[in-house]
Amino acid sequence: MLPTLQYRRIATVDEAVALAKEEGHRFLAGGIELLPLLKEGLQDAETLLDLAPLKASLGQVEVTREGGRVGALASLQEVARHPAIKSHYRALAQACRLTASLQIRQQGTLAGNLLQINRCEYFRNNYGCYLQGGDTCLASQGDDRHHALWTEGTCHSVYPSDPATALVALGAKVRWRDAEGEKEAPLEELFGRPVPEDPRHLKLPQGALMTGIHLPPAPTWSVFLKVMERGTWTFSAVSLAASARLEGDLLRDVRIVLGGVAARPWRAEGAEALLEGAEVEVLEGVGEIFPEMSRSLLEGLRPGRENGYKLALLQGLFAKALADLRGALGR
Ligand SMILES: Cc1cc2nc3c(=O)[nH]c(=O)nc-3n(C[C@H](O)[C@H](O)[C@H](O)COP(=O)(O)OP(=O)(O)OC[C@H]3O[C@@H](n4cnc5c(N)ncnc54)[C@H](O)[C@@H]3O)c2cc1C
Repeated sequence: MLPTLQYRRIATVDEAVALAKEEGHRFLAGGIELLPLLKEGLQDAETLLDLAPLKASLGQVEVTREGGRVGALASLQEVARHPAIKSHYRALAQACRLTASLQIRQQGTLAGNLLQINRCEYFRNNYGCYLQGGDTCLASQGDDRHHALWTEGTCHSVYPSDPATALVALGAKVRWRDAEGEKEAPLEELFGRPVPEDPRHLKLPQGALMTGIHLPPAPTWSVFLKVMERGTWTFSAVSLAASARLEGDLLRDVRIVLGGVAARPWRAEGAEALLEGAEVEVLEGVGEIFPEMSRSLLEGLRPGRENGYKLALLQGLFAKALADLRGALGR
């Protein structure tokens, strides 16, 4: 049952930032993540600060030659359907389109998606895991099919956001407001490990209001691919997002990011390094170098008890991404 809560509609960003400093106040965007967590007693709050009235100022999507700006309160469906996001930042549009169901994409915001916490069955079903005061991560001792291949700290949960995987591949920055003013940082630098006092993966400063995402000038190519346990409407078992720029005949700024493998979007730096600066012809003989490339894709990842299947899925996604890149460059 939802506990008794105070509810307040926010009129301005300044008001949101001032009120968020108070104990027990939480921002409410689409409510898809927050309300079930409150109902299940997995998080608590005294007052919900409804951000809906800020949608006009914080819900815009804009793409220019200098880059893209996506307001924090843009719905996932608005991002997925936006013509300029589809053509310039394809990976982001694909990731948003493959997130959840149409109803959830209409209601859920980009900020709420990025700030969601883990979907670990032990945590969500209140088994008293490490994040809930237990001694250890129950997945590390038990069923880890949906858990990490790389862990930092005790909790083995993975960060579930698909759009984040694409945004890290696109080199996005997050913008927020707090009592000290307006701030911006690369999205990939804001991740930390989930701990009992703060189970979040994305460590936006407590009480800060995310205002938007900034994207650098569009890459030549980007893609987001995802494997789900069932055909639709669910989280990634694993995902892969990649982007690259073509400079003459050379691949530049190659970014390859894996989802579903760690508490953060995971940069596959070994695979990036093999492609960085390579001539596009390398893609024509990709079959020969694929074994080496896919080994470097998985560098640093270690299967647990029952999640080794993810490694083969990731190799499959990588092969698809390379085929997609070849197609995009007409090779
Ligand atoms: C059945 C189901 C399937 C799903 N499938 C997927 C999937 O395939 N891929 C995927 O990536 N996600 C998936 N999701 C997650 C879903 O996309 C998110 O729950 C949703 O986007 C949350 O957005 P919201 O606006 O409702 O957030 P809310 O629930 O309103 O907020 C979530 C959190 O963010 C905070 N917050 C919200 N806005 C701001 C802001 N501007 N500044 C600071 N803090 C803020 C809130 O305080 C809260 O802590 C799924 C969810 C469900 C229920």
